Order: sequence, then structure tokens, then C-alpha cells
Amino acid sequence: MEPSGQGNILRLLEKLHRLERVPSSILLHGAEGTGKLKIALGFAKGLLCHSSTPWGCGECKSCTSISRFEEELSQNREELKVYEDIKGKRVFVHLKGTHPDLILVPPHEGQIRIDQIRSLKDFLSTKPLLSKRKVVLIEAANLMNLQASNSLLKILEEPPNYANLLLTATSLSSLIPTVASRLFPVRIPPLSREELASKAQVRDRLTLSLAKGSLDRLKEFTDKARILKPFRDFPPESAEAALKLANAFEKLELEERLMALDILEEIIYNSLKENRINTCKASELLQRLGELRGALRRGVKGSLALLSFANMWR
Ligand SMILES: [Zn+2]
Repeated sequence: MEPSGQGNILRLLEKLHRLERVPSSILLHGAEGTGKLKIALGFAKGLLCHSSTPWGCGECKSCTSISRFEEELSQNREELKVYEDIKGKRVFVHLKGTHPDLILVPPHEGQIRIDQIRSLKDFLSTKPLLSKRKVVLIEAANLMNLQASNSLLKILEEPPNYANLLLTATSLSSLIPTVASRLFPVRIPPLSREELASKAQVRDRLTLSLAKGSLDRLKEFTDKARILKPFRDFPPESAEAALKLANAFEKLELEERLMALDILEEIIYNSLKENRINTCKASELLQRLGELRGALRRGVKGSLALLSFANMWR
């Protein structure tokens, strides 16, 4: 099904801001590649903005500082790293730009640890300097270990009145229940095709539907566009073309082969939509494709199977 997009959710967040009813701790949850961190940063910008404009005015000292932070995040995270001396050891705690009232706590080596949560508490223990509020972003909060989760719980129970915590995670159930129950959950849906097109400046319809609402997936297919190109001409016109395709398939890495199959699947659906094949044929093809995918995952090379698949379709 075609994703309906993020418009409604963004309007909900904006409304909460305008009504001054922003919950102190919010969890943005949704699939990878839906831009959760970007939305969290935009929302934080609005909360810290000197004119309190939802998503930020873009011009005040607070907004320009956060814009710079966003830019550095995508280009050079290293520069933003803050370390603390803990028991004689230099420990990474969070990321910080020039805005004194905003920090981002990301996972480090696959985990968010208690030292990071302690440091976050220290950050929240002093009043804001540049804005009226202080914002802590926790990226991939599902990677907090149990100790860290329990430590965060105390802040979630009684946050300072000027504090906002914005967490991101793939799902609500990926957090421990005691933490999850203290957060205001906002599900971030996949991006619609139009939203993807305008965010990534991609026009190709097949690539946009392959992305399935995820910017990450869109990027993967765009990056691999050249080597995946032959599979867009499915079904091949002649037996010779089919053989050529099987040879091209042979040369791909496993990940790329699975992506090629995603393209074939999309073509099957499009052919069905445009009445070029009937439902019976489509379901037969999809079933064979599913078997082929399973075989690839088990380590079968699959080029012969692809050849017979191509011939069956023609
Ligand atoms: Zn502003």
C-alpha cells in the first residue's frame, strides 16, 4: 500500500507546540530511514526558538546555531563529540554544537550507557542559557542498556520544568515498559512518494516505489542504480537477453541480488496494475520470486534460477 505520508503527524506536533501543550518527554518511533532524528531536531529548533515559532524562525541566534549543528551532524560528527573524565578514563558522553541548551545523545559502540545518562542529568541540572528551555535528544533510545534505562527513568518521572526530552526508536516496544509508559509516543509513518521525491530530489518512479517510504532505502537504490539497471528491463525480450541478465546477476553481491529481486517484484506489481499480466500469472511469479529469494539467502547463487524465472515470464 502507498504510504500516506508524514503531513498529519507534523501538523499534530505543530499543534502541540502552538497550544503550549508539548509533553516533557516524547518518543518518535518508526522504521529506519523515515527521518525521525531530522524531525526531532526541527521540533527542538521550534522549542528553543526565541520567537517560539514551530520548527524555528530560522533567523534568531538559537535557530542559526541549531542549523549549524544539523549541518555538522551530517558532515562531521567527530567535531561535535564531548568527552568526560570518569574515574580517570576519557569517556564519550554526547554531541554538542554551539547551542548551550541542546545536546544529542547517540549510541556509542552499539549501546547507550549509564555514563551518558548521568552526563545528560548534569546537563539538565542547570538552567537554560540562550533559550527558555533545554532540550535533550536521545537517538536510537532502544539501544540504552538496562542500567541506562533505569537511570533515565528518574529524569522521566520528574524532569525540570524547563526540560524537554525527545527520543527516537524503531518501535515503542523496543524500550523497557517502565520507560515507554512515561513517554508520549508519536509514530512517524513512512514518507509518501511525493515527500521522498521532494526531499531527495529523485524523480524516477520505480526508484521511488522501491524506497517504500524510507530515505535510506532510496539512497541504496540510487547508489546502485548503474549495476541494477539491466533488471529494469524485465522480462527480457529474447532468450539471449535472458542469458545476459543471468550473467549480470552472477556478478552481483548477495545484497545487490536481493535488491535486483526487489526490482523484479515491483515490475510484477506494475505489470499487474497495468493489465499486462493477469492475477494468476502475477501470483505464480511472486511465489517463484519468493522461492528464489529464500534460495539466495541460503547461499545458492541463483543465476540459473533467474534464467528459468525469466523464461517462464516471457
Ligand atoms: Zn528562531
